[in-house]
Amino acid sequence: MGTLSIVATPIGNLEDITLRALRTLKECDVIYAEDTRVISKLLSRYEIQKPLQRLDAATEAKKADDVIARLEAGERIVFVSDAGTPGISDPGTRLVAQVRTQLPDAVIEAIPGASALTAALSISGIDTAAFTFLGFLPHKKGRQTALKSLATSEIPVVLYESPHRIEKLLEELKELSVRHVVVARELTKVHEELISGTVAELQAHFVAHPDAVRGEFVVIVTP
Ligand code: SAM
Repeated sequence: MGTLSIVATPIGNLEDITLRALRTLKECDVIYAEDTRVISKLLSRYEIQKPLQRLDAATEAKKADDVIARLEAGERIVFVSDAGTPGISDPGTRLVAQVRTQLPDAVIEAIPGASALTAALSISGIDTAAFTFLGFLPHKKGRQTALKSLATSEIPVVLYESPHRIEKLLEELKELSVRHVVVARELTKVHEELISGTVAELQAHFVAHPDAVRGEFVVIVTP
């Protein structure tokens, strides 16, 4: 029986990869990746050449069957998402669940590493003894319910948000009288910044610095 390694990759800075992750990538038989072009950049940086297969959200269930067949043949398989930890607002969960159900004897190992969630919390200065992670809020159905629940939460709530929606989210938070928010932007990259303040202060920041609306964001709503 083979091994399925769920490998965390960098969230921006290509140096944020563990020695164990690199060894696992070097020793595996095949890498299944959310996007083979994205992982190729990391592999070429570390001079690793491996057969690549695409396994994204749309193909996860079907490709999981291929992975199961390979595991039965004893192969060492890696799965990587585009950035950070697979399964955290990324493909990987269904793959793991399917392998666990259909191949209970297969070894599934975590090769932990970067995640925007933990990176943002680690520099936020917020008490993280307990927090809620909601990932991406739904765009339509369920959005208002989720927003209301986070506005009344007694512990910090962490969200992922895309650049073209960050200003809309801040406006929605203002309407719900959310007071304090932390936005961690472009973590581990050249334009990394952490902005903390009232919703109105953050909105003013984005008006004054239009470039700051670009990139990737983790939003932490504090009680
Ligand atoms: N699996 C990833 C992880 O472990 O963090 C998350 C993947 S999710 C598709 C992508 C979202 O994560 C982005 O829209 C953003 O909210 C957040 N994110 C990823 N990289 C980031 C970075 N370098 N800085 C800030 N947020 C980031």
